[in-house]
Amino acid sequence: MSVHTVVEAVPATLLAVAGQSSAFPVHRIYCVGRNYAEHAREMGASGREAPFFFAKPADALLYVESGSEGECPYPPRTDNLHHEIELVVALSTGGANLGLEAAAATVWGYAIGIDLTRRDLQQQAKDKGRPWDTAKGFDHSAPIGPLHPVSSVGVLERGAIWLEVNGAARQRGDLGDMIWKVGEMLAELSTYFVLRPGDLVFTGTPAGVAAIQRGDRIRAGIDGLGELRLRLT
Ligand code: MN
Repeated sequence: MSVHTVVEAVPATLLAVAGQSSAFPVHRIYCVGRNYAEHAREMGASGREAPFFFAKPADALLYVESGSEGECPYPPRTDNLHHEIELVVALSTGGANLGLEAAAATVWGYAIGIDLTRRDLQQQAKDKGRPWDTAKGFDHSAPIGPLHPVSSVGVLERGAIWLEVNGAARQRGDLGDMIWKVGEMLAELSTYFVLRPGDLVFTGTPAGVAAIQRGDRIRAGIDGLGELRLRLT
């Protein structure tokens, strides 16, 4: 039975899976802030506070096929757009108040993601105690590559995570340097929200975040997941 809607229904966001024709249906996008100590320090924190969560809308994703260069429009209302390379985990199950093992077992796959940030608006929000939505959750604020199932790439606990702009190194870290490991962050997240199949979690960025401009070419990679390429237009 198809229900007629009173306004146009925006279709659900689907994410491609590497090597498969079936897609991953995206439910919510959660993000972790300050999950690498060196990045926390470059943001002005001590590096010893606990990480924290924020969110982006599911349709903020900008899918970039592997092997091709995606095009990302430079967003309005900012003069200081920053890149943040992040490991993204995709959940196949969920629940509330999960223990560590149950939380880790919800992970179905991984992708390379970039948490684009209007740093000027984020600073204003911090200064005034206002929400981060306009700084973090704007259209096309989450470029992402294809999902790679755990069944293909294994459990990712360490390995290089890096990003370069116009051929120059900007960010370089190791997944093993996360403050909250993936299971820990999902267990913690599940005490705030009921996790669901289709949820994505951006797991935080290593040090070296900086501004990007129209025309810049970004290359980013995570060991085991290949590369993501993007040009700002
Ligand atoms: Mn981030």
